[in-house]
Amino acid sequence: MSKIIFLGPPGAGKGTQAKRLADLLNIPHISTGDILRNAIAANTALGQKAQSYVDKGELVPDELLLDLISDRLQQTDAANGWILDGFPRNVSQASFLHELLKNLNQSGICAVNLEVPDEVLVTRMLGRGRKDDNQETIRRRLEVYRNETAPVISFYSERDALKSIDGDRPMEEVTESLKQVVAS
Ligand code: AMP
Repeated sequence: MSKIIFLGPPGAGKGTQAKRLADLLNIPHISTGDILRNAIAANTALGQKAQSYVDKGELVPDELLLDLISDRLQQTDAANGWILDGFPRNVSQASFLHELLKNLNQSGICAVNLEVPDEVLVTRMLGRGRKDDNQETIRRRLEVYRNETAPVISFYSERDALKSIDGDRPMEEVTESLKQVVAS
């Protein structure tokens, strides 16, 4: 059973690679960014609360996502594994997930860190055309990543659960490395 957490800066290709790997392994791809964007598009209560944060490149408050992730990981399609993309985004979310998985008796997660140089990230994000991919928001998201999300990498390396992968390569090569890493 594969339980995989995708880490890495915005623009590293987490979404693309997480989707490809989830298809190959036949497990759900759970992206908090996608969930929030869908909620915003559908104008749900969650979407209304999240919109200003997402537009500015800030993290939405933890309490908007914790119950949601807990429920999602307990749905039947997640019983044989899952890929988390965009969660955890700070150390408090990582601690929450750690406790949740302990309570669900799920051990053996693998956190993969997609490494891509900053200048490549900015070029990739500007090419995506997402609403929150303008210069100012990109700068803020990279800053938030360094301050709040990069410490999550240490959280998993301290628990011997981290694998780093060079994400600055053609898409198929990165997927191939990911396949090998999660199979090992
Ligand atoms: P992403 O698609 O992962 O780049 O996420 C897009 C935006 O959604 C981020 O810039 C945040 O505003 C918000 N977001 C996604 N995941 C989280 C999370 N785990 N915690 C807080 N905010 C999040």
